[in-house]
Formats: sequence, structure tokens, C-alpha cells
Amino acid sequence: MSPTTPQRPGMHSRNISSSSFASAFDVARSKLGELAFYEEDDDLPDISSSESAGSLSRDQSPSPSFEISDGGGSSPASPISPATDPTTPVVADPDVVDNFAFAFDIDGVLIRGGKPIPEAIEAMKVLNGENEYGIKIPYIFLTNGGGKFEVERCHDLSRQLEIDVSPGQFICGHTPMREFASRYGTVLVIGGEGEKCREVAEGYGFRDVITPGDIMKANEATAPFRQLTAAEHKNSRDLLAGRRGSKVTKLSDIVIEAIFVFADSRDWASDLQIILDVAQSKGGRLETRSETFDEGPPIYFSHSDVLWSAAHEHARLGMGALRNIVETVFTDTTGGKKLNTHAFGKPQVATFEFATRLLQQWRAAQHGLTESEPPATVYFVGDTPESDIRGTNAMNEKSKNEWYSILVKTGVYQAGTEPKYKPRRLVDTVLDAVHWGVKREMGRRGVKGGRKLSLDEKVQLGLV
Ligand SMILES: [Mg+2]
Repeated sequence: MSPTTPQRPGMHSRNISSSSFASAFDVARSKLGELAFYEEDDDLPDISSSESAGSLSRDQSPSPSFEISDGGGSSPASPISPATDPTTPVVADPDVVDNFAFAFDIDGVLIRGGKPIPEAIEAMKVLNGENEYGIKIPYIFLTNGGGKFEVERCHDLSRQLEIDVSPGQFICGHTPMREFASRYGTVLVIGGEGEKCREVAEGYGFRDVITPGDIMKANEATAPFRQLTAAEHKNSRDLLAGRRGSKVTKLSDIVIEAIFVFADSRDWASDLQIILDVAQSKGGRLETRSETFDEGPPIYFSHSDVLWSAAHEHARLGMGALRNIVETVFTDTTGGKKLNTHAFGKPQVATFEFATRLLQQWRAAQHGLTESEPPATVYFVGDTPESDIRGTNAMNEKSKNEWYSILVKTGVYQAGTEPKYKPRRLVDTVLDAVHWGVKREMGRRGVKGGRKLSLDEKVQLGLV
């Protein structure tokens, strides 16, 4: 660093504090209102109000009102702790802007059908300094998807986007579930491919993870139209042989304390059957049936997106659809009883608060910026009005700093329709979103484009 490099507060030795997602939920149980608005300026999105909202989804219920106390903080491997050694001073990069940042949804914004959206690679280059002003802009990723370890997903994303993505800048749908590992003993984990979600759950610290495969192996009559493949049968565990303690001699001795839907189900019919069996059990005991249907364990979904953007030209059904089916069929099969399930992920404001902490830690660990204050503006780029835009707008209402929603046309949202939750800006691609954010920031400071800024100018403009 040159002697003239401006010093930022807090850029020397810092202690990265870990924060509890669960405690954030305690604080953030406020209900999401109907936060549909346009920015009152001359940059209104080009959306015709005369067109229908399309078939995105039915109304989503407000954020679940549920009590979650502190789960004891993050584990040592928590992705909310940036990968950089927290005790190592990070030298501030004079090209990194301090007062704005980006956060990105992934599916339908950067990736579609396992392949990068072409403009996404270019957008990352712009953020990493390949822009006319010579600035670098911090960014994080916030996806509702999951089904892999965070580090694996970051590895995939790094390859797809041709950049290095760290778990310290990445949150996926089930990331917050790690904070429940110490709260529950035996849990049922649903979703994902093969044994992957069991491995992820055990990696989070869950001590006794049961899967639908284990239950079907123990009782082949569980799902009449589903037979485990030879590989599934081999990988599924023997529920009685492996139990600790001699008191467990039959399935009804096993108590499921909570159900976690980590990732999208690969077999909706049998997973639905098993979730409902446990939800209607006596206190979570396998193979039992409650007389009152109100003593099942809590059920957590990692998000509630009804639709998501995959390779098909039309959006595909997501975990939120399964959640709706579970609740509806529970009512249908219990004489009208209501089942309240819980969901993490966007649009929950707590998820965005979690993202704020991650961003501050990431900016400090990676770029040497001060950790105590968030950037004045975070541009959130998403493709799903019901989760990305709704959540960003709700966060903006609540937060001290500005959360600015940008909707792209490369995913769930269909161009020409009116989104149910209105973005501050509607653009074609993620590259347009990045250009817009940079242009808006420079416009605020009266900077004309076309040249690289000197360090003195960046300091004077309040960019660094
Ligand atoms: Mg998306």
C-alpha cells in the first residue's frame, strides 16, 4: 500500500464475529406486507400495468410467526465466517468501493439449466474491475437452492462464472439450518440426490439424521408405488440395528424431533407420504397416528419458492409447491386441521439480514473495508418477484441502508407481464443490472464515464 493510500477505520486487526441466524429470526418476525412499489423517479421500470401478473404463483402467506431462540451460534465451519483468517489484517484495496455492493440470486440470473447465462460472466468481470472507472465492487450470492455442501456449490459457481467464489460470500437455502443442529436429536431430512443431504446435515452437526430411504427400507409398505433401487437400499440405513441404546426395539420407539426439507424432493409422492405420516404421528414417533393431529414435530423448508428457473423454457415447480401440497393434504386428511410449516430463504427479511452480516464480514475479510457499517446501498439482482423482489423491498423498508431491487428477464419473471412485487428497476440481464447500479452510483456523484478515476477522485467522491 502506498503512503498516500487512505486509511479506513477498522481495516487493521479485526475479529470477525459470528452471528446467529436463529437469533435474527427472533428479531425479524415482522410480517411482510404487500410491499409493491415503484421508485418515484424518472427511471421507472418499463412494465405495463395493463397486463396480467401471469401465473407465477398464488399468494404466499406472510412470514411464519414462530419462536426460534438462539441455536448456540455458528459452528466452526459456518459459512457466515469468511474464509479468510479473521485474525489476519487485510490490506485495503484502494480500487474497491466502500459504499455500495451487489448481491445476486443465482438460478435464472447467473445460471440456467446448469450453464452460465452468457452475460453473467461479463457482469462478474465488470464487478472485478473491468469497467470504465477502474473500480472493484464487492458482491455476494444469496440463493434459495441447495442440495450440496456450500463449498461444493461455490466450486461449481467458480467454474461456471470463471471467478473464485468463496463460501464466505455464499448463502444457500439450507445454510441457516446448521444453527438447529444442536437443538434437535433425531431429525428427518428430505430432498436432494442420493445421500447428499444426509451428508450435508451431518456436516452441519446434526447427530441423528434419518431419510425417507431409511423409513422405506424399514417398512416396504410405506410408499406402495415406490421401490428402493439396489443402490438406495444399500445406502439407506437400518433404523433398528444402528440405534443407540437398547430401548429402541421397534420403529415406534424412534422419535423424529423435527423435519427439515433441505433441497427439492426427487420423489414427491413418497416424500409427501412420509412427511404427512410424521406430521400426523404421536409426538413424532414413527408408525404412530395422533388422535388430535396436533402433536407432530416442526417442519422446516429451506425456502418457499413455488417456481424456479431451470433449463425448460417455462419455470419448473419448486419446494414451495411441495410445501403447499403438504399443508393442503394435511388439512384434507385430518378433518380440517391446519398445519403450519416454516420456511427460510428469500423473501424472509431475516435471510436478508443474515446476508447483510455476511456482506459486512466478506467486505472486511476480503477487501479490508470497515466491518461495522454496511454499504450505503446494496443492489439485489433476482429473477423471481415473489422471493427476490419481495424480500429486497421488505428489507429496504426495514433496514438503515438502502436495498435496491433489480429484476431480470432471464428467469422466472416473464417479460411483458406485471410482476406482483415491483422492482425498483427492470432490466434484460444481470450485466444490465450491474451497469445500471454503477451508472446510478456515478450519476449521484456527477461522474462522467469514459475514464478511470484516480485514487484522489475516488476518495473525494466518497467511493472508497
Ligand atoms: Mg432465481
